[in-house]
Amino acid sequence: MEYQTVGSSDAASGGRFDVVIVGAGFSGMQMLYRVRELGFSARVFEAGGDMGGTWYWNRYPGARCDVESLEYSYQFSDDLQQEWVWTERFAAQPEILRYADHVAERFGLRPDIQFNTRVSAATYDEESDRWLVRTAAGDEVTAQFLIMATGCLSSTNLPKFPGMESFRGEIYHTGRWPHEGVDLSSKRVGVIGTGSSGVQAIPVIAEQAKELYVFQRTATYTVPAFNHPLDPDDQATVKADYAGFRARNNLMPGAGYSRYPAANPASIFDATPRERDEAFEARWALGGPTLLGAFGDIMVNEEANDIAAEFVRNKIRQIVKDPDVAALLSPKHTIGCKRICVDTGYYETYNRSNVHLVDVGSAPIDELTPNGIRTGGTEYELDVIVLATGFDAMTGTLLKIDIRGREGLTLREKWSAGPHTYLGLGVSGFPNLFTISGPGSPSVLTNMMASIDHHVNWIGACLTYLRDNGVTSVEATPDAEESWVHHVNEVADRTLYPSCNSWYLGANVPGKTRVFMPLLGFPPYAQKCAEVSANGYEGFALARNGHAAPGVTADSGE
Ligand code: NAP
Repeated sequence: MEYQTVGSSDAASGGRFDVVIVGAGFSGMQMLYRVRELGFSARVFEAGGDMGGTWYWNRYPGARCDVESLEYSYQFSDDLQQEWVWTERFAAQPEILRYADHVAERFGLRPDIQFNTRVSAATYDEESDRWLVRTAAGDEVTAQFLIMATGCLSSTNLPKFPGMESFRGEIYHTGRWPHEGVDLSSKRVGVIGTGSSGVQAIPVIAEQAKELYVFQRTATYTVPAFNHPLDPDDQATVKADYAGFRARNNLMPGAGYSRYPAANPASIFDATPRERDEAFEARWALGGPTLLGAFGDIMVNEEANDIAAEFVRNKIRQIVKDPDVAALLSPKHTIGCKRICVDTGYYETYNRSNVHLVDVGSAPIDELTPNGIRTGGTEYELDVIVLATGFDAMTGTLLKIDIRGREGLTLREKWSAGPHTYLGLGVSGFPNLFTISGPGSPSVLTNMMASIDHHVNWIGACLTYLRDNGVTSVEATPDAEESWVHHVNEVADRTLYPSCNSWYLGANVPGKTRVFMPLLGFPPYAQKCAEVSANGYEGFALARNGHAAPGVTADSGE
Protein backbone atom coordinates (compact mmCIF):
# COMPACT_ATOMS: atom_id res chain seq x y z
CA MET A 1 0.00 0.00 0.00
CA GLU A 2 1.19 3.52 -0.73
CA TYR A 3 0.70 6.34 1.69
CA GLN A 4 0.55 9.92 0.53
CA THR A 5 2.83 12.55 1.90
CA VAL A 6 1.79 15.19 4.37
CA GLY A 7 -0.19 18.24 3.35
CA SER A 8 -1.24 17.04 -0.08
CA SER A 9 -3.86 19.28 -1.56
CA ASP A 10 -6.71 17.92 -3.65
CA ALA A 11 -4.92 18.87 -6.83
CA ALA A 12 -1.61 17.36 -5.76
CA SER A 13 -3.15 14.16 -4.47
CA GLY A 14 -5.69 13.74 -7.26
CA GLY A 15 -8.34 13.33 -4.58
CA ARG A 16 -6.41 10.44 -2.98
CA PHE A 17 -5.68 10.68 0.71
CA ASP A 18 -4.46 8.40 3.41
CA VAL A 19 -7.19 9.66 5.69
CA VAL A 20 -10.53 11.40 5.28
CA ILE A 21 -11.93 12.90 8.46
CA VAL A 22 -15.59 13.87 8.60
CA GLY A 23 -16.17 16.85 10.89
CA ALA A 24 -14.04 19.75 12.08
CA GLY A 25 -15.29 19.99 15.64
CA PHE A 26 -12.85 19.40 18.45
CA SER A 27 -12.36 15.74 17.53
CA GLY A 28 -11.80 16.36 13.81
CA MET A 29 -9.41 19.21 14.54
CA GLN A 30 -7.23 17.14 16.85
CA MET A 31 -7.40 14.12 14.56
CA LEU A 32 -6.18 16.22 11.65
CA TYR A 33 -3.33 17.61 13.73
CA ARG A 34 -2.36 14.09 14.80
CA VAL A 35 -2.44 12.34 11.41
CA ARG A 36 -0.47 15.15 9.81
CA GLU A 37 2.07 14.93 12.62
CA LEU A 38 2.36 11.20 11.93
CA GLY A 39 2.98 11.84 8.23
CA PHE A 40 -0.37 10.86 6.72
CA SER A 41 -2.10 12.96 4.09
CA ALA A 42 -5.56 14.03 5.10
CA ARG A 43 -8.64 15.90 4.04
CA VAL A 44 -11.36 17.05 6.43
CA PHE A 45 -14.92 17.68 5.29
CA GLU A 46 -17.02 19.96 7.47
CA ALA A 47 -20.69 20.80 6.94
CA GLY A 48 -20.40 24.10 8.82
CA GLY A 49 -18.77 27.28 7.60
CA ASP A 50 -15.92 27.09 10.09
CA MET A 51 -14.32 25.09 12.90
CA GLY A 52 -15.82 24.26 16.26
CA GLY A 53 -18.60 21.71 15.70
CA THR A 54 -21.01 21.93 18.59
CA TRP A 55 -19.67 25.38 19.49
CA TYR A 56 -20.10 26.57 15.92
CA TRP A 57 -23.78 25.63 15.82
CA ASN A 58 -25.01 26.15 19.37
CA ARG A 59 -25.04 29.93 19.65
CA TYR A 60 -28.27 30.26 21.60
CA PRO A 61 -28.49 32.82 24.40
CA GLY A 62 -26.70 31.52 27.50
CA ALA A 63 -24.80 28.70 25.73
CA ARG A 64 -21.95 27.70 27.96
CA CYS A 65 -19.92 24.61 28.77
CA ASP A 66 -20.67 22.74 31.97
CA VAL A 67 -17.16 21.30 32.20
CA GLU A 68 -14.58 23.63 33.71
CA SER A 69 -12.50 25.58 31.17
CA LEU A 70 -9.15 24.44 32.51
CA GLU A 71 -10.08 20.87 31.73
CA TYR A 72 -12.36 21.42 28.71
CA SER A 73 -9.39 22.17 26.48
CA TYR A 74 -6.74 20.36 24.47
CA GLN A 75 -3.88 18.61 26.19
CA PHE A 76 -1.86 17.57 23.13
CA SER A 77 0.30 20.70 23.10
CA ASP A 78 1.82 22.14 26.24
CA ASP A 79 2.61 25.40 24.46
CA LEU A 80 -1.07 25.73 23.58
CA GLN A 81 -2.30 25.02 27.08
CA GLN A 82 0.25 27.42 28.55
CA GLU A 83 -0.51 30.34 26.25
CA TRP A 84 -4.32 30.22 26.20
CA VAL A 85 -5.95 32.20 29.02
CA TRP A 86 -9.49 31.26 30.01
CA THR A 87 -11.56 33.99 31.57
CA GLU A 88 -14.28 32.07 33.39
CA ARG A 89 -14.72 28.89 35.37
CA PHE A 90 -17.28 27.66 32.80
CA ALA A 91 -16.54 29.20 29.41
CA ALA A 92 -19.31 30.71 27.32
CA GLN A 93 -19.80 29.60 23.72
CA PRO A 94 -18.11 32.66 22.09
CA GLU A 95 -14.95 32.11 24.12
CA ILE A 96 -14.80 28.42 23.21
CA LEU A 97 -15.27 29.28 19.55
CA ARG A 98 -12.42 31.82 19.81
CA TYR A 99 -10.32 29.02 21.28
CA ALA A 100 -11.17 26.73 18.33
CA ASP A 101 -10.18 29.52 15.96
CA HIS A 102 -6.92 30.05 17.83
CA VAL A 103 -6.09 26.33 17.62
CA ALA A 104 -6.90 26.26 13.91
CA GLU A 105 -4.64 29.24 13.23
CA ARG A 106 -1.84 28.17 15.51
CA PHE A 107 -1.54 24.75 13.89
CA GLY A 108 -2.46 25.82 10.35
CA LEU A 109 -5.41 23.43 10.19
CA ARG A 110 -7.72 25.28 7.80
CA PRO A 111 -5.90 24.51 4.51
CA ASP A 112 -6.73 20.81 4.92
CA ILE A 113 -10.38 21.40 5.76
CA GLN A 114 -13.11 21.85 3.20
CA PHE A 115 -15.91 23.82 4.86
CA ASN A 116 -19.57 24.05 3.84
CA THR A 117 -19.22 20.49 2.59
CA ARG A 118 -21.48 17.73 3.78
CA VAL A 119 -20.42 14.13 3.22
CA SER A 120 -23.39 12.27 1.80
CA ALA A 121 -21.97 8.79 1.15
CA ALA A 122 -18.95 6.59 1.77
CA THR A 123 -18.43 3.20 0.16
CA TYR A 124 -15.71 0.69 0.97
CA ASP A 125 -13.95 -0.90 -1.98
CA GLU A 126 -12.75 -4.39 -1.02
CA GLU A 127 -10.36 -4.61 -3.97
CA SER A 128 -8.31 -1.60 -2.99
CA ASP A 129 -9.07 -1.48 0.76
CA ARG A 130 -10.05 2.13 0.27
CA TRP A 131 -13.08 4.30 0.95
CA LEU A 132 -14.77 6.29 -1.77
CA VAL A 133 -16.17 9.38 -0.08
CA ARG A 134 -18.80 11.48 -1.81
CA THR A 135 -19.98 14.96 -0.83
CA ALA A 136 -23.47 16.36 -1.21
CA ALA A 137 -22.09 18.56 -4.01
CA GLY A 138 -21.09 15.40 -5.88
CA ASP A 139 -17.30 15.59 -5.38
CA GLU A 140 -15.47 12.32 -4.74
CA VAL A 141 -12.19 11.47 -3.05
CA THR A 142 -10.70 8.19 -1.87
CA ALA A 143 -8.90 7.39 1.34
CA GLN A 144 -7.41 4.35 2.99
CA PHE A 145 -9.01 5.30 6.27
CA LEU A 146 -12.28 7.04 7.06
CA ILE A 147 -12.50 8.68 10.45
CA MET A 148 -15.92 9.85 11.57
CA ALA A 149 -15.48 12.87 13.84
CA THR A 150 -19.13 13.76 13.51
CA GLY A 151 -19.86 14.46 17.17
CA CYS A 152 -22.37 12.89 19.52
CA LEU A 153 -24.87 15.73 19.56
CA SER A 154 -24.82 17.15 16.08
CA SER A 155 -28.10 16.11 14.46
CA THR A 156 -30.93 18.20 15.82
CA ASN A 157 -34.14 16.59 17.00
CA LEU A 158 -36.90 18.56 15.34
CA PRO A 159 -40.33 17.45 16.55
CA LYS A 160 -43.00 17.49 13.88
CA PHE A 161 -45.90 19.33 15.48
CA PRO A 162 -49.11 19.48 13.48
CA GLY A 163 -49.54 22.89 11.89
CA MET A 164 -45.85 23.76 12.19
CA GLU A 165 -45.72 25.40 8.76
CA SER A 166 -48.71 27.57 9.57
CA PHE A 167 -46.96 29.47 12.37
CA ARG A 168 -46.43 33.04 11.20
CA GLY A 169 -43.62 33.89 13.62
CA GLU A 170 -40.04 32.67 13.72
CA ILE A 171 -38.89 29.18 14.81
CA TYR A 172 -35.31 28.47 15.88
CA HIS A 173 -33.63 25.33 17.18
CA THR A 174 -30.99 26.03 19.84
CA GLY A 175 -28.54 23.82 17.95
CA ARG A 176 -28.92 25.87 14.74
CA TRP A 177 -29.04 29.35 16.18
CA PRO A 178 -28.58 32.16 13.63
CA HIS A 179 -25.06 33.57 13.60
CA GLU A 180 -26.31 37.12 13.55
CA GLY A 181 -28.31 36.51 16.75
CA VAL A 182 -32.03 37.01 17.30
CA ASP A 183 -33.57 40.14 18.76
CA LEU A 184 -36.04 38.87 21.34
CA SER A 185 -36.73 42.17 23.02
CA SER A 186 -40.42 43.01 23.27
CA LYS A 187 -41.28 39.61 21.81
CA ARG A 188 -43.54 36.89 23.15
CA VAL A 189 -41.30 33.84 23.16
CA GLY A 190 -42.14 30.18 23.66
CA VAL A 191 -39.39 27.72 24.58
CA ILE A 192 -40.09 24.02 24.10
CA GLY A 193 -37.68 21.82 26.05
CA THR A 194 -36.02 21.95 29.43
CA GLY A 195 -32.83 19.93 28.99
CA SER A 196 -29.34 21.46 29.28
CA SER A 197 -29.93 23.81 26.34
CA GLY A 198 -33.32 25.03 27.55
CA VAL A 199 -32.06 25.40 31.12
CA GLN A 200 -29.25 27.66 29.92
CA ALA A 201 -31.33 29.64 27.44
CA ILE A 202 -34.46 30.23 29.55
CA PRO A 203 -32.95 32.61 32.19
CA VAL A 204 -31.28 34.72 29.49
CA ILE A 205 -34.32 34.80 27.21
CA ALA A 206 -36.49 35.73 30.21
CA GLU A 207 -34.41 38.89 30.62
CA GLN A 208 -34.75 39.79 26.95
CA ALA A 209 -38.32 38.85 26.08
CA LYS A 210 -41.54 40.63 26.88
CA GLU A 211 -43.21 37.37 27.87
CA LEU A 212 -41.70 33.92 28.05
CA TYR A 213 -43.74 30.71 27.99
CA VAL A 214 -41.82 27.54 28.84
CA PHE A 215 -43.46 24.39 27.50
CA GLN A 216 -42.21 21.66 29.80
CA ARG A 217 -42.78 17.98 29.05
CA THR A 218 -40.47 16.59 31.74
CA ALA A 219 -39.15 18.60 34.68
CA THR A 220 -35.39 18.69 34.98
CA TYR A 221 -32.80 18.39 37.73
CA THR A 222 -30.33 21.20 37.56
CA VAL A 223 -27.60 22.36 39.91
CA PRO A 224 -26.18 25.87 40.04
CA ALA A 225 -22.96 26.58 38.16
CA PHE A 226 -21.75 29.32 40.52
CA ASN A 227 -19.74 30.47 37.55
CA HIS A 228 -17.10 33.13 38.21
CA PRO A 229 -14.09 34.76 36.58
CA LEU A 230 -11.05 32.54 36.84
CA ASP A 231 -8.50 33.66 39.39
CA PRO A 232 -5.20 34.29 37.52
CA ASP A 233 -3.21 32.82 40.41
CA ASP A 234 -5.30 29.68 40.36
CA GLN A 235 -4.89 29.35 36.62
CA ALA A 236 -1.13 29.82 37.05
CA THR A 237 -1.10 27.03 39.66
CA VAL A 238 -2.72 24.61 37.20
CA LYS A 239 -0.38 25.71 34.41
CA ALA A 240 2.67 25.15 36.61
CA ASP A 241 1.90 21.44 36.37
CA TYR A 242 -0.64 21.10 33.57
CA ALA A 243 0.63 17.63 32.67
CA GLY A 244 0.09 16.44 36.23
CA PHE A 245 -3.38 18.04 36.28
CA ARG A 246 -4.32 16.23 33.05
CA ALA A 247 -2.91 12.95 34.29
CA ARG A 248 -4.88 13.18 37.52
CA ASN A 249 -8.09 14.06 35.65
CA ASN A 250 -7.61 11.14 33.29
CA LEU A 251 -7.70 8.81 36.27
CA MET A 252 -11.00 10.20 37.54
CA PRO A 253 -14.35 8.58 36.77
CA GLY A 254 -15.42 10.07 33.43
CA ALA A 255 -12.03 11.81 33.21
CA GLY A 256 -13.62 14.34 35.57
CA TYR A 257 -12.16 17.23 37.49
CA SER A 258 -9.58 16.00 39.98
CA ARG A 259 -9.95 19.16 42.05
CA TYR A 260 -13.54 18.31 42.93
CA PRO A 261 -13.99 16.10 45.98
CA ALA A 262 -13.67 12.45 45.03
CA ALA A 263 -16.83 10.40 44.62
CA ASN A 264 -17.74 8.95 47.99
CA PRO A 265 -18.10 5.16 47.69
CA ALA A 266 -20.02 4.86 50.99
CA SER A 267 -23.70 3.94 51.10
CA ILE A 268 -26.18 6.69 51.79
CA PHE A 269 -27.83 4.31 54.27
CA ASP A 270 -24.74 4.40 56.47
CA ALA A 271 -25.15 8.16 56.89
CA THR A 272 -27.55 9.93 59.23
CA PRO A 273 -30.10 12.31 57.67
CA ARG A 274 -27.95 15.19 58.88
CA GLU A 275 -24.78 13.73 57.35
CA ARG A 276 -26.61 13.19 54.07
CA ASP A 277 -27.79 16.78 53.99
CA GLU A 278 -24.33 18.08 54.82
CA ALA A 279 -22.80 15.99 52.04
CA PHE A 280 -25.36 17.20 49.48
CA GLU A 281 -25.14 20.83 50.64
CA ALA A 282 -21.35 20.79 50.33
CA ARG A 283 -21.54 19.54 46.75
CA TRP A 284 -24.40 21.88 45.84
CA ALA A 285 -22.34 24.84 47.15
CA LEU A 286 -19.39 23.81 44.98
CA GLY A 287 -21.43 24.32 41.84
CA GLY A 288 -21.18 22.07 38.84
CA PRO A 289 -22.23 18.49 38.45
CA THR A 290 -20.74 16.74 41.50
CA LEU A 291 -23.94 16.02 43.40
CA LEU A 292 -24.26 12.40 42.34
CA GLY A 293 -20.84 11.64 43.83
CA ALA A 294 -22.10 12.33 47.35
CA PHE A 295 -22.74 8.62 47.97
CA GLY A 296 -21.84 5.41 46.20
CA ASP A 297 -25.33 3.99 45.74
CA ILE A 298 -27.21 6.94 44.22
CA MET A 299 -27.01 5.54 40.69
CA VAL A 300 -27.60 1.90 41.63
CA ASN A 301 -30.30 1.95 44.29
CA GLU A 302 -33.70 3.55 43.73
CA GLU A 303 -34.26 4.44 47.37
CA ALA A 304 -30.83 6.06 47.64
CA ASN A 305 -31.48 7.87 44.38
CA ASP A 306 -34.76 9.23 45.66
CA ILE A 307 -33.06 10.73 48.71
CA ALA A 308 -30.73 12.65 46.39
CA ALA A 309 -33.66 13.62 44.17
CA GLU A 310 -35.62 14.87 47.17
CA PHE A 311 -32.67 17.08 48.15
CA VAL A 312 -32.99 18.87 44.78
CA ARG A 313 -36.79 18.98 45.00
CA ASN A 314 -36.41 20.71 48.38
CA LYS A 315 -34.13 23.27 46.79
CA ILE A 316 -36.77 23.92 44.13
CA ARG A 317 -39.42 24.45 46.81
CA GLN A 318 -37.09 26.87 48.62
CA ILE A 319 -36.26 28.86 45.49
CA VAL A 320 -39.56 28.99 43.62
CA LYS A 321 -42.15 31.15 45.38
CA ASP A 322 -45.34 29.80 43.80
CA PRO A 323 -45.92 26.30 45.28
CA ASP A 324 -47.83 25.11 42.20
CA VAL A 325 -45.01 26.16 39.91
CA ALA A 326 -42.47 24.58 42.26
CA ALA A 327 -44.44 21.31 42.19
CA LEU A 328 -44.53 21.33 38.38
CA LEU A 329 -40.80 22.04 38.22
CA SER A 330 -40.03 19.13 40.58
CA PRO A 331 -38.88 16.09 38.60
CA LYS A 332 -40.30 12.70 39.48
CA HIS A 333 -37.87 10.49 37.57
CA THR A 334 -34.56 9.07 38.74
CA ILE A 335 -31.97 11.77 39.25
CA GLY A 336 -28.97 11.32 36.95
CA CYS A 337 -30.59 8.99 34.40
CA LYS A 338 -30.80 12.05 32.17
CA ARG A 339 -27.74 14.21 32.25
CA ILE A 340 -27.94 16.63 35.20
CA CYS A 341 -28.07 20.22 33.96
CA VAL A 342 -25.92 23.03 35.27
CA ASP A 343 -27.57 26.44 35.39
CA THR A 344 -27.34 30.07 36.28
CA GLY A 345 -30.58 31.20 37.88
CA TYR A 346 -32.84 28.59 36.25
CA TYR A 347 -35.36 27.89 39.01
CA GLU A 348 -35.20 31.57 40.12
CA THR A 349 -36.38 32.59 36.64
CA TYR A 350 -39.85 31.20 37.43
CA ASN A 351 -40.27 33.92 40.08
CA ARG A 352 -40.34 36.55 37.33
CA SER A 353 -43.71 37.95 36.40
CA ASN A 354 -43.01 37.63 32.64
CA VAL A 355 -42.24 33.88 32.84
CA HIS A 356 -45.00 31.29 32.61
CA LEU A 357 -44.58 27.53 32.93
CA VAL A 358 -46.88 25.44 30.74
CA ASP A 359 -47.23 21.74 31.44
CA VAL A 360 -47.08 19.75 28.20
CA GLY A 361 -46.30 16.51 30.02
CA SER A 362 -49.85 15.74 31.04
CA ALA A 363 -51.36 17.38 27.92
CA PRO A 364 -48.99 17.37 24.96
CA ILE A 365 -48.67 20.17 22.44
CA ASP A 366 -51.70 19.72 20.16
CA GLU A 367 -50.56 21.92 17.31
CA LEU A 368 -48.84 25.05 16.18
CA THR A 369 -51.28 27.63 14.91
CA PRO A 370 -50.61 30.75 12.82
CA ASN A 371 -50.44 32.65 16.13
CA GLY A 372 -48.66 30.31 18.48
CA ILE A 373 -48.98 27.00 20.30
CA ARG A 374 -52.16 25.22 21.29
CA THR A 375 -52.09 22.79 24.20
CA GLY A 376 -54.68 21.58 26.68
CA GLY A 377 -57.37 23.66 25.00
CA THR A 378 -55.44 26.96 25.34
CA GLU A 379 -53.73 28.88 22.56
CA TYR A 380 -50.57 30.72 23.61
CA GLU A 381 -49.88 33.64 21.28
CA LEU A 382 -46.20 33.90 20.37
CA ASP A 383 -43.84 35.81 18.09
CA VAL A 384 -40.92 33.38 18.37
CA ILE A 385 -40.70 29.67 19.16
CA VAL A 386 -37.41 28.26 20.41
CA LEU A 387 -36.99 24.50 20.05
CA ALA A 388 -34.62 23.37 22.78
CA THR A 389 -35.60 19.82 21.86
CA GLY A 390 -32.18 18.22 21.74
CA PHE A 391 -30.51 15.86 19.33
CA ASP A 392 -30.68 12.50 17.60
CA ALA A 393 -27.68 11.64 19.71
CA MET A 394 -24.67 9.46 18.98
CA THR A 395 -25.99 7.75 15.86
CA GLY A 396 -28.07 10.45 14.12
CA THR A 397 -25.33 12.03 12.05
CA LEU A 398 -23.58 8.76 11.22
CA LEU A 399 -26.79 7.26 9.90
CA LYS A 400 -27.64 10.26 7.76
CA ILE A 401 -24.59 9.39 5.68
CA ASP A 402 -25.00 6.45 3.31
CA ILE A 403 -22.11 4.39 4.66
CA ARG A 404 -21.58 1.05 2.90
CA GLY A 405 -19.08 -1.54 4.03
CA ARG A 406 -18.31 -5.06 2.82
CA GLU A 407 -20.69 -6.53 0.25
CA GLY A 408 -22.71 -3.34 0.18
CA LEU A 409 -23.85 -3.69 3.80
CA THR A 410 -25.15 -0.32 4.94
CA LEU A 411 -24.54 1.06 8.41
CA ARG A 412 -28.27 1.80 8.58
CA GLU A 413 -29.07 -1.91 8.12
CA LYS A 414 -26.31 -2.98 10.44
CA TRP A 415 -27.52 -0.64 13.21
CA SER A 416 -31.27 -1.11 12.68
CA ALA A 417 -31.51 -2.69 16.15
CA GLY A 418 -29.19 -0.13 17.72
CA PRO A 419 -25.50 0.64 17.25
CA HIS A 420 -23.04 -2.26 17.28
CA THR A 421 -19.38 -1.37 17.63
CA TYR A 422 -16.19 -2.73 19.10
CA LEU A 423 -14.85 -0.27 21.70
CA GLY A 424 -16.93 2.47 20.07
CA LEU A 425 -14.03 2.70 17.63
CA GLY A 426 -14.61 0.11 14.92
CA VAL A 427 -17.53 -1.69 13.28
CA SER A 428 -17.47 -5.23 11.95
CA GLY A 429 -18.20 -5.24 8.21
CA PHE A 430 -16.74 -1.74 7.85
CA PRO A 431 -12.96 -2.07 7.56
CA ASN A 432 -10.72 0.97 7.94
CA LEU A 433 -13.57 2.98 9.46
CA PHE A 434 -13.06 4.61 12.85
CA THR A 435 -15.57 6.50 14.98
CA ILE A 436 -14.28 9.08 17.43
CA SER A 437 -16.39 8.96 20.59
CA GLY A 438 -18.65 6.46 18.84
CA PRO A 439 -21.53 4.59 20.51
CA GLY A 440 -20.13 1.95 22.82
CA SER A 441 -17.38 4.26 24.08
CA PRO A 442 -17.60 6.41 27.23
CA SER A 443 -17.85 9.63 25.17
CA VAL A 444 -20.79 11.64 26.52
CA LEU A 445 -20.30 10.22 30.01
CA THR A 446 -16.88 11.85 30.22
CA ASN A 447 -15.25 15.22 29.77
CA MET A 448 -15.46 15.03 25.97
CA MET A 449 -12.11 16.73 25.47
CA ALA A 450 -10.40 13.96 27.43
CA SER A 451 -12.11 11.12 25.61
CA ILE A 452 -11.49 12.79 22.25
CA ASP A 453 -7.81 13.05 23.16
CA HIS A 454 -7.80 9.38 24.09
CA HIS A 455 -9.48 8.24 20.86
CA VAL A 456 -7.34 10.45 18.65
CA ASN A 457 -4.17 9.07 20.19
CA TRP A 458 -5.41 5.50 19.98
CA ILE A 459 -6.42 5.83 16.32
CA GLY A 460 -3.16 7.63 15.49
CA ALA A 461 -1.17 4.82 17.08
CA CYS A 462 -3.26 2.21 15.25
CA LEU A 463 -2.68 3.85 11.86
CA THR A 464 1.05 4.00 12.55
CA TYR A 465 1.08 0.34 13.53
CA LEU A 466 -0.75 -0.65 10.34
CA ARG A 467 1.64 1.36 8.19
CA ASP A 468 4.70 0.00 9.98
CA ASN A 469 3.47 -3.57 9.50
CA GLY A 470 2.28 -3.20 5.93
CA VAL A 471 -1.32 -3.89 6.94
CA THR A 472 -3.91 -2.57 4.50
CA SER A 473 -7.13 -3.21 6.41
CA VAL A 474 -8.27 -3.34 10.01
CA GLU A 475 -11.75 -4.48 10.98
CA ALA A 476 -13.50 -5.37 14.22
CA THR A 477 -14.30 -9.08 14.36
CA PRO A 478 -17.98 -10.04 14.78
CA ASP A 479 -17.17 -11.90 18.02
CA ALA A 480 -15.28 -9.03 19.59
CA GLU A 481 -18.06 -6.67 18.61
CA GLU A 482 -20.81 -8.89 19.98
CA SER A 483 -19.16 -9.33 23.34
CA TRP A 484 -18.44 -5.60 23.50
CA VAL A 485 -22.10 -4.71 22.89
CA HIS A 486 -23.06 -7.21 25.58
CA HIS A 487 -20.56 -5.57 27.96
CA VAL A 488 -21.89 -2.04 27.30
CA ASN A 489 -25.46 -3.17 28.04
CA GLU A 490 -24.53 -5.25 31.01
CA VAL A 491 -22.64 -2.39 32.68
CA ALA A 492 -25.57 -0.01 32.10
CA ASP A 493 -28.09 -2.56 33.38
CA ARG A 494 -26.30 -2.69 36.72
CA THR A 495 -27.24 0.98 37.21
CA LEU A 496 -30.27 3.23 37.14
CA TYR A 497 -29.10 4.94 33.95
CA PRO A 498 -31.52 3.07 31.66
CA SER A 499 -34.49 3.88 33.93
CA CYS A 500 -35.91 6.90 32.08
CA ASN A 501 -36.51 8.25 28.59
CA SER A 502 -33.11 9.78 27.98
CA TRP A 503 -31.21 10.50 24.81
CA TYR A 504 -28.55 8.06 26.10
CA LEU A 505 -31.15 5.43 25.18
CA GLY A 506 -32.37 7.16 22.04
CA ALA A 507 -35.73 7.42 23.80
CA ASN A 508 -36.11 11.11 22.89
CA VAL A 509 -36.45 10.40 19.17
CA PRO A 510 -39.74 8.79 18.10
CA GLY A 511 -39.13 5.36 16.53
CA LYS A 512 -35.45 5.10 17.50
CA THR A 513 -34.38 1.73 18.88
CA ARG A 514 -34.09 1.91 22.64
CA VAL A 515 -30.60 0.83 23.66
CA PHE A 516 -28.09 2.38 26.04
CA MET A 517 -25.44 3.79 23.72
CA PRO A 518 -22.50 5.11 25.75
CA LEU A 519 -20.28 2.92 27.93
CA LEU A 520 -20.14 3.67 31.63
CA GLY A 521 -16.60 3.25 32.79
CA PHE A 522 -13.75 5.58 32.03
CA PRO A 523 -10.84 5.05 32.95
CA PRO A 524 -11.13 1.21 32.87
CA TYR A 525 -12.10 1.67 29.22
CA ALA A 526 -8.78 3.40 28.48
CA GLN A 527 -6.99 0.45 30.08
CA LYS A 528 -8.92 -1.97 27.87
CA CYS A 529 -8.02 0.00 24.73
CA ALA A 530 -4.35 -0.02 25.74
CA GLU A 531 -4.48 -3.80 26.19
CA VAL A 532 -6.10 -4.25 22.78
CA SER A 533 -3.36 -2.30 21.04
CA ALA A 534 -0.57 -3.88 23.08
CA ASN A 535 -1.87 -7.29 21.98
CA GLY A 536 -1.54 -6.51 18.29
CA TYR A 537 -5.06 -5.07 18.01
CA GLU A 538 -6.81 -7.98 19.60
CA GLY A 539 -10.43 -8.23 18.43
CA PHE A 540 -9.59 -6.63 15.10
CA ALA A 541 -8.86 -8.63 11.95
CA LEU A 542 -5.78 -7.28 10.17
CA ALA A 543 -5.19 -8.01 6.50
CA ARG A 544 -2.64 -7.25 3.84
CA ASN A 545 -4.20 -6.82 0.40
CA GLY A 546 -7.03 -9.18 1.26
CA HIS A 547 -4.89 -11.80 3.05
CA ALA A 548 -4.94 -12.19 6.80
CA ALA A 549 -2.03 -10.50 8.51
CA PRO A 550 -2.10 -11.87 12.03
CA GLY A 551 -1.52 -9.20 14.67
CA VAL A 552 2.11 -8.64 15.42
CA THR A 553 2.41 -8.31 19.16
CA ALA A 554 4.61 -5.31 19.48
CA ASP A 555 4.73 -1.91 20.99
CA SER A 556 1.84 -0.14 19.31
CA GLY A 557 3.56 3.17 19.71
CA GLU A 558 0.67 4.55 21.76
P1 NAP B 1 -32.26 17.26 25.75
O1 NAP B 1 -31.52 17.08 26.99
O2 NAP B 1 -32.59 16.07 24.94
O3 NAP B 1 -33.57 18.06 26.11
C1 NAP B 1 -34.59 18.23 25.15
C2 NAP B 1 -35.82 18.79 25.83
O4 NAP B 1 -36.84 18.95 24.85
C3 NAP B 1 -36.38 17.87 26.90
O5 NAP B 1 -36.89 18.64 27.94
C4 NAP B 1 -37.49 17.15 26.14
O6 NAP B 1 -38.49 16.64 26.97
C5 NAP B 1 -38.00 18.28 25.28
N1 NAP B 1 -38.73 17.81 24.12
C6 NAP B 1 -38.26 17.09 23.07
N2 NAP B 1 -39.25 16.85 22.20
C7 NAP B 1 -40.36 17.42 22.70
C8 NAP B 1 -41.71 17.49 22.27
N3 NAP B 1 -42.12 16.90 21.14
N4 NAP B 1 -42.60 18.15 23.05
C9 NAP B 1 -42.21 18.73 24.18
N5 NAP B 1 -40.94 18.69 24.67
C10 NAP B 1 -40.04 18.03 23.92
O7 NAP B 1 -31.50 18.28 24.75
P2 NAP B 1 -30.52 19.48 25.11
O8 NAP B 1 -31.09 20.30 26.19
O9 NAP B 1 -30.17 20.14 23.84
O10 NAP B 1 -29.24 18.76 25.69
C11 NAP B 1 -28.68 17.62 25.05
C12 NAP B 1 -27.31 17.37 25.60
O11 NAP B 1 -26.41 18.32 25.03
C13 NAP B 1 -27.16 17.56 27.08
O12 NAP B 1 -27.61 16.48 27.84
C14 NAP B 1 -25.66 17.78 27.19
O13 NAP B 1 -24.96 16.59 27.11
C15 NAP B 1 -25.39 18.59 25.94
N6 NAP B 1 -25.44 20.03 26.29
C16 NAP B 1 -24.50 20.49 27.14
C17 NAP B 1 -24.52 21.80 27.52
C18 NAP B 1 -23.49 22.27 28.48
O14 NAP B 1 -22.34 21.91 28.42
N7 NAP B 1 -23.87 23.09 29.40
C19 NAP B 1 -25.49 22.65 27.07
C20 NAP B 1 -26.45 22.16 26.18
C21 NAP B 1 -26.42 20.83 25.80
P3 NAP B 1 -38.39 15.13 27.56
O15 NAP B 1 -37.35 15.21 28.64
O16 NAP B 1 -39.74 14.83 28.01
O17 NAP B 1 -37.93 14.25 26.42
